[in-house]
Amino acid sequence: RAHLDAMEKARDLNAFIGETPELALARARQSDVRRAKGAPLGAMDGIPVAVKDLFCTEGVRTTAGSHILDDFTPPYESSVTANLRAAGAVMLGKTNMDEFAMGSSNITSYFGSVKNPWKGKDGEDLVPGGSSGGSAAAVAARLCLGATGTDTGGSIRQPAAFTGIVGLKPTYGRCSRWGIVAFASSLDQAGPMTRTVRDSAIMLGAMAGHDPKDSTSAPLAVPDFEAALSGDVRGLRVGVPKEYRLDGMNDEIAALWRRGCDWLKDAGAEIVDISLPTTKYALPTYYIVAPAEASANLSRYDGVRYGLRVPGDSLDEMYANTRGEGFGDEVQRRVLIGTYVLSAGYYDAYYLKAQRVRTLIARDFRAAFETVDVILTPTAPSAAFAIGEKIDDPIAMYLNDVFTVPTSLAGLPGISVPAGLDSSGLPLGLQIIGKPFDEETLLRAADVLESAA
Ligand code: GLN
Repeated sequence: RAHLDAMEKARDLNAFIGETPELALARARQSDVRRAKGAPLGAMDGIPVAVKDLFCTEGVRTTAGSHILDDFTPPYESSVTANLRAAGAVMLGKTNMDEFAMGSSNITSYFGSVKNPWKGKDGEDLVPGGSSGGSAAAVAARLCLGATGTDTGGSIRQPAAFTGIVGLKPTYGRCSRWGIVAFASSLDQAGPMTRTVRDSAIMLGAMAGHDPKDSTSAPLAVPDFEAALSGDVRGLRVGVPKEYRLDGMNDEIAALWRRGCDWLKDAGAEIVDISLPTTKYALPTYYIVAPAEASANLSRYDGVRYGLRVPGDSLDEMYANTRGEGFGDEVQRRVLIGTYVLSAGYYDAYYLKAQRVRTLIARDFRAAFETVDVILTPTAPSAAFAIGEKIDDPIAMYLNDVFTVPTSLAGLPGISVPAGLDSSGLPLGLQIIGKPFDEETLLRAADVLESAA
């Protein structure tokens, strides 16, 4: 009830697309009954969580932040939210997000921008990051104890950094994609957004697990992630990639990164300079691969099978009207880029080349992980910016993802940990990148970093 009250008071943040108070109270009561009876409790029994509106929830409207799905109520539940429910979690509502998870600032949602609970120096409204900006704002404003996010190129980690919370993108395949509205299927991954590293460890344990309904879900047992938080990083080898020191890097971000190295060093870790030579190709590669996959995935929204239909005189006109009205500008831009790079004549030059570069990027990481256990970088090149900034400049917006997309292309786990405030009093995050399916070491290092910060 306290969380539902807080949600009501914080409606101006626009963090939720749909609130589900009755459902929440009913599930909370079931949890009370389990407790009273002394029945076995799940890892998240009675814990109020928010769910990004990209996860299909049975009988609860799921919009993906889009007009084309604003009337869509799924007849089934995503595997991740089903796992959370089985662990006793109580869903409070569905959070706002960039349309189809395309964006870094939550300004592309059909349901309006989300406001960051942190304000600028002069009280101006800031973006919460994106695309999981509603989830990030809800956790940061204490409207829930944790929230689900999805991360295709940074959508969990970057909003976590912008709102001063923890955001974990697990290894590709750790959490099932089944029932999550698809953006770019070879990149999409669900993960927890929480106040602390420990909460992320607990929540990831409840979300993860092999799922035969997703052929890319890894057939691995779920470790006890919380048990990995030993507080001990002595001897841990932490890589610092020189290619992430971008020309013109913001001084405060550079200083933060140095401090992060010192904190881990003081705790007994060894800092190792490494090189990831293909880093500079990651952003252009991502912005070919992700739109290509998106254009294929979004072809299903044709006015026939799902959601919105805008009639026309012919079938083709109905398609065009539906997609023209149903998709916002950024989604249309992605579909156009995607169909272009996949079209005969351009496929080899763009899509195929991007796939090859993607392999090189993954190879760089593999080589680096022969000498280090984790990699430390900033999460984002700046703190949260004002709502309205970068709106007319898609390239400037895409640059937000410079530190997060390489990890996504390589399928590796990454976590953003709150690491202090900048000179305007805004939160900044540091990212730790781990080896595939080694979230345990990642969480152990993140926990130590969090305590030091
Ligand atoms: N900002 C990136 C994009 O717009 C990443 C989004 C995401 O991770 N879903 O594609």
